[in-house]
Amino acid sequence: MRISKIIIMFLIAVFLTACDKRPKETVNEQQKTGAVQMCGIVKTDQEWKDTLTPEQFEIARQKGTEKAFTGKYYDFKGDGIYKCVCCGNELFDSKTKFDSGSGWPSFFDTISQKNIASVPDNSLQMERTEVICSKCNAHLGHLFEDGPKPTNLRYCINSAALDFEERKKPDK
Ligand SMILES: [Zn+2]
Repeated sequence: MRISKIIIMFLIAVFLTACDKRPKETVNEQQKTGAVQMCGIVKTDQEWKDTLTPEQFEIARQKGTEKAFTGKYYDFKGDGIYKCVCCGNELFDSKTKFDSGSGWPSFFDTISQKNIASVPDNSLQMERTEVICSKCNAHLGHLFEDGPKPTNLRYCINSAALDFEERKKPDK
């Protein structure tokens, strides 16, 4: 009898210790500050506000969407690399940009699958796939499967989440 009582007490003590780690508080802390830990950059909302314009902040950090045909890159035809406006992560090559007619910059491929993550987005009563920067978690836009060959993908991206860098010409 006594031994089983001791075992029960021991188990209760172990259980209480395990519960005391309170993972919930960590989540609440993240929600409060807006800091989200991915594999790379972690900043608070205020820190992002310090480096982004209000429009960039709203779209890239708060999952906003710019109005169609208003962004600076939807009809832009420069030759170079589109980077994440928040962290500089290389996302798209202008060689994969195409005119989708949607009013947003559209790409049929990424520079590297590693640089972009996709997550289910069921907001606005639609089943969509959100694409985010894998380094800083920035909201970029959405991924659709009605793009041109060879991938048949359409990355529909907000201009405000992108930063264009012209390709360097080889030295003559
Ligand atoms: Zn980023």
